[in-house]
Amino acid sequence: MSDKYCIYLRKSRKDDDLHSETIEETLKRHRKTLLELAECQKLNVTKIYSEIVSGETINDRPEMQKLLRDVEQGKWRGVLVMEVERLARGDTTDQGRVAKAFKYSETLIITPNKIYDPTNEFDEEYFEFGLFMSRRELKTITRRLQEGRKRSVLEGKYVGNIAPYGYKRVKLKNEKGYSLKVLPEEANIVKMIFEWYTIGEKQADGTHKRLGVSLIAKRLNELKILPRKKGTWTASSVRNILKNPVYIGKVRWFWRKTQKKLINGELIVKRQNSEKHIITDGLHKGIIDKKTFELAKKIMKKNTTRPIRERNTIQNPLAGLIKCGICGRNMIRRPYNNYPDTLICLTTSCKNVSSSLHLVEEKIIEGIKNWISDYKLQWQIKNTSKQSTNITFNVTRKSLAKLNKEIKTLHLQQSNLDDLLEQKIYDVEKYKKRANILNKKLKKAEENYKKLQIIIKGYEKEKKRKIIVPQVEKIIETYYALPTPQAKNDLLKDVLEKVIYTKNQSGRWHTSPDDFELILYPRLPCSTRKYQNSQNKH
Ligand SMILES: [Zn+2]
Repeated sequence: MSDKYCIYLRKSRKDDDLHSETIEETLKRHRKTLLELAECQKLNVTKIYSEIVSGETINDRPEMQKLLRDVEQGKWRGVLVMEVERLARGDTTDQGRVAKAFKYSETLIITPNKIYDPTNEFDEEYFEFGLFMSRRELKTITRRLQEGRKRSVLEGKYVGNIAPYGYKRVKLKNEKGYSLKVLPEEANIVKMIFEWYTIGEKQADGTHKRLGVSLIAKRLNELKILPRKKGTWTASSVRNILKNPVYIGKVRWFWRKTQKKLINGELIVKRQNSEKHIITDGLHKGIIDKKTFELAKKIMKKNTTRPIRERNTIQNPLAGLIKCGICGRNMIRRPYNNYPDTLICLTTSCKNVSSSLHLVEEKIIEGIKNWISDYKLQWQIKNTSKQSTNITFNVTRKSLAKLNKEIKTLHLQQSNLDDLLEQKIYDVEKYKKRANILNKKLKKAEENYKKLQIIIKGYEKEKKRKIIVPQVEKIIETYYALPTPQAKNDLLKDVLEKVIYTKNQSGRWHTSPDDFELILYPRLPCSTRKYQNSQNKH
């Protein structure tokens, strides 16, 4: 049997009653006590397991897992711990596992008060009872702790572990608990954030331009001002500052209910924001005046009531596609509460009459349909002899390569000619004569090259058309099944360059709802031809 001992350190909720201590301070104190105990009893301690994280279950406590593994392997004669309860608290399964590990390996538990021998029947009972007690106690302690926090908040103390941006957490003199001290440098940033949000950023002309949360975050990052936690500011971190009443000298406390769920044998703890909360005057100084804070709150409320989708996505499937046939400006969607959306020209003096957006959309799809069947027909006539086209294409390509070579040779001859003149092998007269012939040859070759290139391009376009027709057909098929205006808009923009809309018929729109003219400009290789879609003429 091993004659070695180890120490297991873990901060317990009980230690939280000593508000002033950090986890490191607590563990240091316990370590000293247990080392003294070991020395006094002449126990050979060779290892200290120090749990820095606090978790309810063994799974949450990495050092405990290591200790248990070692105990199960009989590595230790005994484990020194402040209280038996430190080993397992909260969960019955965990407690059973701990009790078994110690019992089967016959490992002693040594606390400053008592030595437990798991092989001793009486001790075993005591041991298990101790763990059972700790389980019951946990609930009481949790409640007591929450009550304690609540009381602290009511006294104006700061109960959070981390001070908000702009503050430092300071221990209160002569009493339990903490308050906040202003950090001037960070406080200035807080003031700036509130100013940007409520009054705005000063412009060159002396006026102010108000900034939204995203822009404030961007500006701060540009100024290389670092936030506390993450690397950069985000809209939400700015929003949290603007919303935090700590900056007008308040303290708040949320009762955060934790929801526990057992998933795959693991305890999943979810925190929920509860509506139950306390806001009260804090012992600390505010950074922002109440008026500014309330103004920020008002602005934020106004901005958050607007639904997000309105700002981010297109609501108009025809957005950016329809041009006014009279003034040339983009036609836009105007939503109404009781009418269907309307397509209008915003130019005040423009005489173009608006239409129902839905009708225009339908006509465009119909127009594409008509146009594609015409296009297909033309294309089929052109391509009656598909095979010969391919042969011509290949021959042309070869000729092009040949010509390219020839042009290169001619350029080389030209530079050789220059050399001959320079070396005085050719006199000027002879040089001129030869250069003339070369230039003529080069010019002709280059002309031919251009001609062939145009032919090749034509063939390539033809090839593209073969792909485009089924593509467009597919688009028309799927258009109405698309889920969002944005998706529809993307599709239409793939097929159409623009659509020109004109409606001269004045009077109420419902008397002649679709009496408008649309000219479609398909986005296609070699398609300068426009397609006119003006039906329903009376
Ligand atoms: Zn117009």
